[in-house]
This record gives sequence, structure tokens and C-alpha cells, in this order.
Amino acid sequence: MALDSKVPKGPIKDKWTDYKNHINLVNPANKRNIDIIVVGTGLAGGSASATLAELGYNVKAFAYQDSPRRAHSIAAQGGINAAKNYQGDGDSNYRLFYDTVKGGDYRSREANVYRLAEVSANIIDQCVAQGVPFARDYGGLLDNRSFGGVLVSRTFYAKGQTGQQLLLGAYSAMNRQIARGKIEMFNRHEMLDIVIVDGKARGIIARNLVTGEIERHSAHAVVIASGGYGNVYFLSTNAMGSNVTAAWKIHKKGAYFANPCYTQIHPTCIPRSGDYQSKLTLMSESLRNDGRIWVPKNMEDVMAIREGRKKPTDLSEEQRDYYLERRYPAFGNLVPRDVASRAAKERCDAGYGVNATGEAVYLDFASAITRYGKEQAKIHNITNASDAKIYELGQKIVEEKYGNLFQMYEKIVDQDPYKTPMMIYPAVHYTMGGVWVDYNLMTTIPGCYCIGEANFSDHGANRLGASALMQGLADGYFVLPYTIGDYLADDIRTGKISTDLPEFEAAEKEVSDRINFFINNKGTKSVDYFHKKLGNIMWNKCGMSRNEAGLKEAIEEISELRAEFWKDVSVPGGDKEFN
Ligand SMILES: Cc1cc2nc3c(=O)[nH]c(=O)nc-3n(C[C@H](O)[C@H](O)[C@H](O)COP(=O)(O)OP(=O)(O)OC[C@H]3O[C@@H](n4cnc5c(N)ncnc54)[C@H](O)[C@@H]3O)c2cc1C
Repeated sequence: MALDSKVPKGPIKDKWTDYKNHINLVNPANKRNIDIIVVGTGLAGGSASATLAELGYNVKAFAYQDSPRRAHSIAAQGGINAAKNYQGDGDSNYRLFYDTVKGGDYRSREANVYRLAEVSANIIDQCVAQGVPFARDYGGLLDNRSFGGVLVSRTFYAKGQTGQQLLLGAYSAMNRQIARGKIEMFNRHEMLDIVIVDGKARGIIARNLVTGEIERHSAHAVVIASGGYGNVYFLSTNAMGSNVTAAWKIHKKGAYFANPCYTQIHPTCIPRSGDYQSKLTLMSESLRNDGRIWVPKNMEDVMAIREGRKKPTDLSEEQRDYYLERRYPAFGNLVPRDVASRAAKERCDAGYGVNATGEAVYLDFASAITRYGKEQAKIHNITNASDAKIYELGQKIVEEKYGNLFQMYEKIVDQDPYKTPMMIYPAVHYTMGGVWVDYNLMTTIPGCYCIGEANFSDHGANRLGASALMQGLADGYFVLPYTIGDYLADDIRTGKISTDLPEFEAAEKEVSDRINFFINNKGTKSVDYFHKKLGNIMWNKCGMSRNEAGLKEAIEEISELRAEFWKDVSVPGGDKEFN
């Protein structure tokens, strides 16, 4: 199939406006006759569902969690980019576009990225109107911080809980539509297949996770907003529930998948502590605004720290290697994520890792605490403040900025990061590959759209932070609601899609047969056993560093594992219960 991106003609800065001026529209009365299924109610699906319903379409929204509030978007900590130039530091749509294209290794679809930059400011206005409590500065204006790889401050944030607050905004907007009957919410439902009728997406097959019932749902268009595939690595910063079933099922039915090799490795995660761990925890990139990354300069100090004979705070400045500041003086600790990750791996591979596994570097806040403390002492006219007083004043500022992250670190590692540096190591975090979509966000299956992290990210191999929330909300609030109308304009006379069609029957049977196969397979190994093995192959051979020989070995090993999975997997319970 020839792929047509459908990028409109004309100068890049006018494309989106001209396009919106000329696409087909569905009038408000006709919208009432059109049904749209949205699979996923994270930031992308939640914002899309709320907006489509507000426009007048009938939306059926699906999520496997018990509430949209629990979508994985809730985990996002650091912030969301927007070209508002509130700091007056030279930001503009063009700069956000340029940084994103550069951060995407020039593999982005530039027309989409320009559109993303254009609507970024609207996202902030929309969320503020919903009541999202973005951080504010002393004067009450919205505050910003910097993220890696850029030279301006354009990241809007709500402490270390930006995703949660944005999701509550989208969820409130959804709830208004649920109350009006414009969104029918199907919690605890997992989409297991798409139904295609006469070449168009016309519905889904979903399993009610409480009763185990298989259900048929029809619509005039289907939107997939099911998140990324980082969980293929087993250990990642994603929730274990973040599976890729929905995106994979549409791929199997004809939606192309693009750039699956693009995986973002985040440099600041809490290191792995052993083999029985199922999840890694992110320490937000925002911490690199104030934290300094280092390892000991000398191997004797590395060994002494690992053996508990020395503490990191025993080492003088001269005995530390602030390797990012040394190697990248312009960006320092705020280099892009991939650069920071590779540099940490390089130091750890060279033997300088500071924990028992040898896979950890320090993220140290002592300088920032002292700097803020001195400033506070001046502001409050405290002369001759002792070092302890300065530290106490500085700690308060750091606590205000990152308090919940520090608390989370202490709970997990049982060390106080105000007193001793955090330990961090890179981990799989976000996937830029995914379902291929055109300028309208439609997949290669007509009538099937894909938004948020599940699509292949128009921002290419982008390694810059705070882009994912921006893309998900741009797709859901400001792009899809326009582009889907262009397609649905042809459906105003179609009428309800019947779920008695043979295509629904066949798709349901396929799903039931597969479930029965797994329940009756009675193998000896759990799904988790295979997931862990797959994750190990992926991390070791398709992870932070890759080469031809390793990738070839991985292909062999994965196909052996796959054969074993089908032969020997054990799924407990029956087909009418949660398993
Ligand atoms: C720890 C962490 C921190 C992050 N911090 C930031 C940040 O600071 N800034 C930033 O820009 N990005 C950040 N990201 C990335 C960003 O949070 C995600 O890319 C984004 O939230 C994904 O949103 P989404 O709506 O596409 O998917 P998700 O939020 O993952 O939602 C997926 C939805 O799909 C549903 N679903 C999935 N499969 C099915 C199925 N088969 N049937 C029914 N429903 C299904 C789920 O129930 C859920 O509702 C972070 C990511 C992580 C992991």
C-alpha cells in the first residue's frame, strides 16, 4: 500500500489554518446521528471523548481501569510544553517547532509538528479554564521551568503531578458529558478486536473484565488512544497494565505500524534493586533543573562507596566527576534525555556505577539547596546565617518545587534525598513509534483513528521531555475533533451500524476462540514468566545500545520464546472471570 500523509499544500505556517477552512463539516443536527468509539480515556482519549461529545457526537468510551482517572497519564510528573513565551526568553511557535524537529532527529513530519506548536498555547488556556492548578510565580502568573535539550523555559507544571492534574481536568470535562448522556462510559472493558465492515472501521469487540462477557459495540468511526508499548521491556516506568493490545489488534487488521525501534530511555529513574521487581519509578526530568549528576572520579572511591566504607557526602568537589557539565558545558545537566542516558551508561559500563549492581549515578541537590538558602537568607535579611540555617532555608524551596518527588524517592529507597544524593539510572519510558497515521490522525484502516502515545508520534524520534502530554492533548482537544468531521461528513445518512452483521459475528468468534485456547492450554508457565524473558531480550539486545549481531540474536530468541509461549503458557481461572 502506498502511504499518503495527506499533508496539505502551502507554506508550513498556513497549512493548518487553510486546511481547517476547507475541510468538510458535519452540522450540529447531524452530529447527533453519529456514533464514535474511543478506546482509552487517558489524556488523549479523555480529551478527545469530552470534545467530541461537546461537539454533539455520541461517544462510547472504553478503558480497562475502573475509572478514567487511573489511566497511565496520571503518572506524568514533570510538565507540558507550550510556546507562550511567558518568560520573555525568546520563545515562539517557530522555536518550539524547531526544537521539536531537532529533538526528533529530523525524522518528524514537520507539518504536524508546526501544528502541534501552534495549538500548544491553546492547550494551556483550555486546561486553566478547566481549573488545572498549574504552578504560579510570586506575582500569580503561570510559572515555567526548563526541560532538557532546549534553551528556553516553556514547560508548564503542577508540582510533580502534572499528568494527574491534567487528567482530572479532562476527566471533569468527560464527566459533564457523561452526565448529559453524550458519553457512555465503559470502565473495566478491554477492547480485543476491531470490526471492519466494507473496508471501514465500524466497531469493536470488548471483554467486560468483571463478568468476562464478550460484547459487540458499533460506531461510525473508532479512535484508538490506548497508550504506548514500553512494557515490552518488562521493566519500565509504565504501569504493568499498559499493554499494547488495542494498537496491536488494529495492526493485525491492517493498520500500519511505524518506527517501533524508537524507544525513549529516560535518564532519571530509580535504579533496579533486584530480579523480583516489576516496575521502575521515574524521577522527573524537572529535577535536572536543580540536581547535578555525578560519579566519583576515582575508582577507589567507587569501591569504598559500594562497600559502605564511604558516603557520597564524604567526597569533596574535586573528587567528583560532574560528567555532563564537563562534556556538555552549554546544556550541562539539561542535555536531551538520550544524551544523558548514554552518558550514564558509559560511566557505569566503565565501572563507576555507585550501587551494588553498578548501575547508578548520583543526582545531587546540595548545591541548589545551598544556593536557594543563601538567596532566602538575603531576602529575609538574615545576616551571618549558619550553614545549617542556609541549608534549612534552601531545603524549603526545594521542597516546594519537588516535595512529592523527594517523598516518593524516600519511600522507595529509604534514604533522605535532602541529605544524601539520589541514585538514578536510565529506564524505558516512552515510545515514539506506534500506529502510523496521516495528517488527519487516521490509520491505514479507513475510519480508524489513533491518537496520543499509541500513534507513531508526528514528532519523530523526539527525545525531549514534556512533548508527550502536549501531543496527546493537542490530538484530543484540538486536532481530531476537526479532522474526524471531514471523514464523518459522508456518514450523515448511514444510520445506526448493526452489531448483527456477519463481520461482528466473525470478530466475536475469533476473540472467543482465542480466549478459550488460552484457558484450555493448561501449560506450566505463567504469562509473567514469558513477559519477563521477553523484557530481558529486549533490554539487553534492543535497549540503550544496539548492534546488528545483537538484533539478529534477539530475533532468533524471540521466535523461540514465542513458540514456547503458545505451547506452554498457563492462564488460570475461567473465561467468565478476571484473569
Ligand atoms: C512515569 C511517567 C512520567 C511521565 N511524565 C511526562 C511528563 O512530565 N511530560 C510529558 O509530556 N509526558 C510524560 N510522560 C509520558 C506521558 O505521560 C504519556 O505519553 C501520555 O500520558 C500517554 O497518554 P495516552 O492518553 O496516550 O495513554 P494512557 O494515559 O496510557 O491511556 C491509555 C488508555 O487506554 C486504555 N486502554 C489501553 N488498552 C486498552 C484496551 N485494549 N481496551 C480498553 N482500553 C484500553 C487505558 O485504560 C487508558 O485509559 C510520562 C510517562 C511516564 C510513564
